[in-house]
Amino acid sequence: MTFAELTLNQTLLDAITKGGYEVPTPIQAKAIPHILKGKDMLGSAQTGTGKTAAFALPIIQKIEEAKKHGDTKHVRALVLAPTRELALQIKDNFVIYSNDIKVRTTAIYGGVPKRKQIQALRRGADVVVATPGRLLDLMNQGVIRLNKVDTFVLDEADRMLDMGFIHDVKKIAASVPKHRQTLLFSATIPKSIETLSNALLSEPIRVEITPENTPLNTINQSIYFVKKSDKSALISDILYKEAVTSALVFVRTKHGANDLTKLLNASGVLSDTIHGNKTQGQRQRTLKSFKQGKVKVLVATDIASRGIDIDDLTHVINYDMPESAETYLHRIGRTARAGKEGNSISFCSPQETHLLKSIQKHIEMKIPVEGDHRFKIEKADKKKNKSNKRVANGSTKPPHKKGKGKGKKSESFDKFSKSSTKSYKDNAKKYKVKRRSYQGK
Ligand code: AMP
Repeated sequence: MTFAELTLNQTLLDAITKGGYEVPTPIQAKAIPHILKGKDMLGSAQTGTGKTAAFALPIIQKIEEAKKHGDTKHVRALVLAPTRELALQIKDNFVIYSNDIKVRTTAIYGGVPKRKQIQALRRGADVVVATPGRLLDLMNQGVIRLNKVDTFVLDEADRMLDMGFIHDVKKIAASVPKHRQTLLFSATIPKSIETLSNALLSEPIRVEITPENTPLNTINQSIYFVKKSDKSALISDILYKEAVTSALVFVRTKHGANDLTKLLNASGVLSDTIHGNKTQGQRQRTLKSFKQGKVKVLVATDIASRGIDIDDLTHVINYDMPESAETYLHRIGRTARAGKEGNSISFCSPQETHLLKSIQKHIEMKIPVEGDHRFKIEKADKKKNKSNKRVANGSTKPPHKKGKGKGKKSESFDKFSKSSTKSYKDNAKKYKVKRRSYQGK
């Protein structure tokens, strides 16, 4: 299958070639013809599958066609995304694909002043990519009108519902014309998404990208058993290896992220950090310089693990073990995107073996253990330590667990995790299929 066979026009084909895409990914091959025909779509696909181009390319082509025959100054496509980072990323993709075409895209998201966004809207935007809160805000101010929207896209809809945006989504959907094309993409299709789809879509085509393309098959996963106190020295060892050209390192707390970044920079590894205490502007600048390869290591809390697309990320390192299997899958899914291979390394201290156990149970596989490092310990050390302590105390009872709230606050998304863990578990059975690449499908 080639892009030309998908009936995309020459200007878009040129942009695709410039972008280095050779063949359509499975979701692009399946979705683009239907979207060009104006069908509604319920697509189940994760980020990393080429889903953005699957909807962006046909939308751009349709807008270009429409603009040849009519007035030009109104929003024709609205894309809703759950996070600011994802909204910006989608906008960037639209801009790249429509570089030589007169289709203008702007992003609307919170956390930054509204002025520039309002100015961009006044200059005229054909495509608006928005997070729900800021969009509603600007709608209420009368700055944006959606009454001429032909195509309405909900991206990462499951995440949008998990984040509590359902009422916002419904309000926005009620403001776009009834006669429109609606495309809904979601990593999983739980009942809540089915219900939303029934309310918003009309006779949708269902496109499913089967889990054999999910990151687990193209990621070399490994576990390093290491004492907590040795983790910083171990990461320095690993980062000095030549094979690590770009690494996203996950830590549990914002303080931990700051401390590790300082330490890495002091040891000569160019690093930066991204977490919830950084302003939106800082986060964007950091991501940009990481994507451009100006820093080798980005230290992040889980806030950075959602939907972020970093080309050519060779390694994800779980400096602290994630607190749920879903978070683990999201973290490691930042590497090995669009058919590339990637590596995930997880540091597991004796205090974290229960987390590893539950991750392995959910993904139904044993992650290979890397024993070739100078801080190697046996995972059974924790038990030994506990019983030794008890003997030393003269106690036969297990020690008290620390009360909640005594440790530093984890900056995780665990409140979002519960709903889709089961679907991941269901999918995990299918993950065991043979690895395949996008080429030639
Ligand atoms: P997405 O799932 O939209 O976040 O895309 C993930 C990554 O795949 C992005 O870096 C895209 O630029 C890239 N990509 C999208 N389509 C293709 C393709 N046909 N061939 C190669 N890479 C692609």
